[in-house]
Amino acid sequence: MNLDTEITCIQGIGQKRAELLKKEIGITTLADLLSYYPYKYVDRSRFYRVNEIDETMPYIQLKGQILSAEYMGEGRARRYVAHFSDGTGFVDLVWFQGIRYVEGKYRLNTEYVIFGKPNRFGSRLNIAHPEIEPFTENYTQQSQGFQPLYNTTEKMKSNFLNSNALRKVIKTALMFMGNIPETLPANLMQRYSLCARGTALQQIHFPQNNDLLNKARYRLKFEELFYVQLSILRQTKYREQRYRGFVFGRVGALFNDFYTHCLPFSLTNAQKRVLREIRTDMNSGRQMNRLLQGDVGSGKTIVALMSALIALDNHFQACVMAPTEILANQHFETINALLQPLGVHVALLTGSTKKTARQQLHEQLRNGTLQLLIGTHALLEDEVEFHNLGLVVIDEQHRFGVAQRAKLWTKNVQPPHILVMTATPIPRTLAMTLYGDLDVSVLDELPPGRKPIQTFHYFDNKREALNGFLLKQIEKGRQIYIVYPLIQESEKMDLKNLEDGFLYIKERFPSYKVSMVHGKMKASEKDAEMQRFLAGETQIMVATTVIEVGVNVPNASVMVIENAERFGLSQLHQLRGRVGRGAEQSYCILMSKFELSKETRQRLDTMVRTNDGFEIAEADLQLRGPGDIDGTLQSGLPFDLKIADLARDGQVLQLAREAALDILKDDPLLQNDSNALLLKQLDCMQRNNINWSSIS
Ligand code: ADP
Ligand code: MG
Repeated sequence: MNLDTEITCIQGIGQKRAELLKKEIGITTLADLLSYYPYKYVDRSRFYRVNEIDETMPYIQLKGQILSAEYMGEGRARRYVAHFSDGTGFVDLVWFQGIRYVEGKYRLNTEYVIFGKPNRFGSRLNIAHPEIEPFTENYTQQSQGFQPLYNTTEKMKSNFLNSNALRKVIKTALMFMGNIPETLPANLMQRYSLCARGTALQQIHFPQNNDLLNKARYRLKFEELFYVQLSILRQTKYREQRYRGFVFGRVGALFNDFYTHCLPFSLTNAQKRVLREIRTDMNSGRQMNRLLQGDVGSGKTIVALMSALIALDNHFQACVMAPTEILANQHFETINALLQPLGVHVALLTGSTKKTARQQLHEQLRNGTLQLLIGTHALLEDEVEFHNLGLVVIDEQHRFGVAQRAKLWTKNVQPPHILVMTATPIPRTLAMTLYGDLDVSVLDELPPGRKPIQTFHYFDNKREALNGFLLKQIEKGRQIYIVYPLIQESEKMDLKNLEDGFLYIKERFPSYKVSMVHGKMKASEKDAEMQRFLAGETQIMVATTVIEVGVNVPNASVMVIENAERFGLSQLHQLRGRVGRGAEQSYCILMSKFELSKETRQRLDTMVRTNDGFEIAEADLQLRGPGDIDGTLQSGLPFDLKIADLARDGQVLQLAREAALDILKDDPLLQNDSNALLLKQLDCMQRNNINWSSIS
C-alpha cells in the first residue's frame, strides 16, 4: 500500500463512499485522505460538568442521563428534545432531523457520554444534534487525548460519513500505511528541526499532546510553503536563464526633456526611488518582472509614463494596458497631453476604435512609427503586432486573467520588460506567495498637499443629517458618489435597492442631476453616463462597484457607501480612493444597518481609523484570512494551501523561502542528484492540485 493507492483499499470504503469522498471533498488516494487535516481538536480527555459550561464554549464532553424526552414545536420548528442532566444542572439535547431514528434509540436513566457545542436558547442551555454514546467502563481510556474534527458536507453526513466516520477511516489508513516516505531532504529537516513526515501525519490527526501537535503542524506548514516557494523561485531562475532582457543603457533626450520641461510637479521621493529601481532593472540584462504597489492616488501613472520614455529613448516601443475602456481613455488623455510637447507619437486602441483607424494603427505599430500604445484587452489581439516592443505596463493587474498577461509576453520574440501596477495593497506574506517571482516596488508616499479623506460611519437614523450634508457639498460645487453593493446571490434585490436609491436621491435633490451606473448596463451606456459625470453635467452618481477601478474625477469629494457592512475591507478602501483626488477636503461616509457582527464592526472601525492601504490590507488578512481577501485576489491564488495560513505563518514562510533560495543558489534548476527528491516532489505537486502555469 502506498500513498497513491486508491482509498477503496481501506476497509469500510466501498464504491459508493469512495465516489462521495471524491465528489464532495476531492479525495481519491490515501495521500489525499491523509492530507485532509482536522479543522480543530477537542479535548476528550475530560468530562465537563453542566454547571461549568456556557454558550461561549467550543465542543465539550458531558457525562450523565436523559431524564425525559418530548416533542416540541410545530411544522418546521418541530423538534425532539431530551432533557439531560449530570446532577449539576440541565441541558436540552435537541434534534430537528432524523427524529424517528433518535426517538427509539436512547433510554432513560442510562449513563451516556454527550459531545457537542453548547448553545443558549432563552434561559436554557442546549446542544443540537449531539454525538451520543453509552458510557462504558473503558470509555475514558480509549478516548483519551485530543479528538480531531473534520469538515464534512451535508451530503456526506446524510450518508453516514460524518466527522466521526472520517476519523475512523483515517485511523485505519494510518494503521495500514506503515512507513510513510519522507518528502524533505534530511539536512533540511535537521537544520530547521522538522519532525518526520510519518510522525507529522500521525500527530496531526491523532495528537498525543499539544507539543507534538505543534511540531506536526510546523513541519507540515513548512513543507507546504517550502514547495510553493521552491516552485515559484525555480521558475524564475529558469526564466532568467532562458530569456535575456533588453538592455536599456541609455537615459536619453526624451526622459530628460520630460523631467526638466514637462513634468508639472516634482516627483515624490517614493516615485524617484521606484523609477531608479525600474531603471536599474531595465539596464541589468535581466528581463524585468516588477510589481508596483501604490495606494490610490500615489502617482503610478507618471512612473509608468517615465518608464515608457526610457524604452522609447532606447528605440523601443512601449504599451500600457488598462482593464476598462474608460480607464484607458483617461490614461491616453493624461499621457498624450503630457507628451505632446515632446512630439512622441501616442495612440489609443480599445474595443471602440473604428476599423480604419485600427488598420492604420496596426500599420504604424508594425513599422515602428507609433511609439507608445495605450489600450484595453484590444492590445492582446493577434493583429496587434509590434515592431520592437520593449516595455509592457499593466495597470490594475488584478483585473486581468493570467492568460492575458502571459499573452503579452509573446508580443515580441524576446519578452519585453513587464511592469504590473496595482492599487490593491498586498501584505508582504501574500505578495511573497502570490508574486514570489516578481520584484516588488512600493509607492508609500502620497504627493504633497493632499488632505486626508475623513471617514465616518453612520446608521440609518442619521439619514436626514447626511442629506443635509450632501446638499451643502453640492451647493459648494462638489460631486458625490453613492455606491450600493451588488453581489451575485441577491442580484435582483440589489438591483432593486440601487434603483430605489436612485429614485430616492432624485426626489430628495430635485434641482440637481443624478447619474446611475451598474454592471447590467451596456458598456457604451455605462461609459456615456460616466462621461457625463466626469464632465460635471450630473452632480450625483448612484452606482454599484463598477466605479471601483481607477476613474479619476477630481471634483468628486464625497463617497457614500450604502450597506457598507456588505463590502470587504479592501473593496471599501478602493471605493474610498475614488475621492480625495482634488484640492478639496474629501469625505467617505459608511452607512450600515444597526446590528453588526464583531468582525464587521472591526472592519468599519478600521476604515474610520486609517487611510493607509497597507495597514488596511494587513487588517483584512487578519480579519478574514487570505482566501477571502477581495474576490479579485482570490482568483490569483494559484494553489490551495491545506494547512499554512498566510495571515499567521509569516515567519514560517520566511524560513521556507530562505531554505528554497539556499538550495537554488547552488542548483538553480534542481539538476543535481542530491536534489532528486525535491524535483520529484515538485512534479508530484504539479500533477495534483497546483496550477503553476497561472503564475507568470
Ligand atoms: P494612481 O497611483 O492612483 O494611479 P495617479 O497616477 O492617477 O494615481 O495620480 C493621482 C493624481 O496625482 C494625478 O492627478 C497626478 O497628476 C497627481 N500626481 C502624481 N504624482 C504627483 C506628484 N509627485 N506631485 C503632485 N501630484 C502628483
Ligand atoms: Mg491609476
